[in-house]
Amino acid sequence: MATTIWIDGQFYDRESAKISVFDHGLLYGDGVFEGIRAYDGRIFRLEEHLERLYDSAKAIALDIPMSMDEMIRVTELALQHSGIGNAYLRHVITRGVGDLGLDPRKCPRATVIIIVDTIKMFPAERLAMGLTLVTAGTPIAHRESLSPRVKSLNYLPHVMAKLEGINAGADEVLMLDSAGTVAEASGQNVFVVKRGVLRTPPPFAGILQGVTRDAVLELAAELGITAREEQINRYDIYTADEVFLTGTASEIVPVRVVDGRTIGTELPGPVTRRLQAAFQALVRR
Ligand code: PMP
Repeated sequence: MATTIWIDGQFYDRESAKISVFDHGLLYGDGVFEGIRAYDGRIFRLEEHLERLYDSAKAIALDIPMSMDEMIRVTELALQHSGIGNAYLRHVITRGVGDLGLDPRKCPRATVIIIVDTIKMFPAERLAMGLTLVTAGTPIAHRESLSPRVKSLNYLPHVMAKLEGINAGADEVLMLDSAGTVAEASGQNVFVVKRGVLRTPPPFAGILQGVTRDAVLELAAELGITAREEQINRYDIYTADEVFLTGTASEIVPVRVVDGRTIGTELPGPVTRRLQAAFQALVRR
């Protein structure tokens, strides 16, 4: 069992894996990525993740030099090679090696990297307590500047927001768009529950369409929980009965406090608990 890195057809370990300093992924953040989990050796929603990866690449006019079928095959190969059952996989596709100018035409071939490792987002006691959130002053990128639907290597707004949370002693941050509408957390989607109704912002508004988010919406339908994709404001967060975050690395995490307001009365709330149980059953189905 060891961290395994596949780069353009070759396997490396943590020490030997290297890329060029002329790679435009490093020089300009020119590239896209994915984060995927495997449970007991089985990859959860690989096709959905890879569809998002190929769509992100298409949106920035980046050619991934292999078919989706080939990507599925090497991803499974890399997971097997690592011997890690409960793994976190990171696909990184960069524009590739070019010169010091930003012209992408100077990069003849994209670099394809697959890292197989493990991940732990929050300590167990924070998950049990429920997360503390503050609203970040840094908004997510404007959707016509860099669409938040593209899972790109430009995560600086999210990193700056995360830093604001760290400086405030919070576990996570709530990011708004430039109009002040609730968007997402630094690496998770946001859900609220009010009087049994589940709500989460729609992708069109400018968020990453999380694979976990979509799974939660499907589970809600199966469980007979009314769910709506609609814009929400901080008012809806503060006055919610339950708030939780979703993400591949975090799974479903209850939130206890946002900007000093305690959310609801029970933690995790009843809807969050049902969805958490259904999600754990789904990933091992
Ligand atoms: N928003 C952002 C900004 C993210 O980076 C992530 C993590 N990929 C998510 C939401 C959640 O997406 P997913 O459920 O597909 O991991």
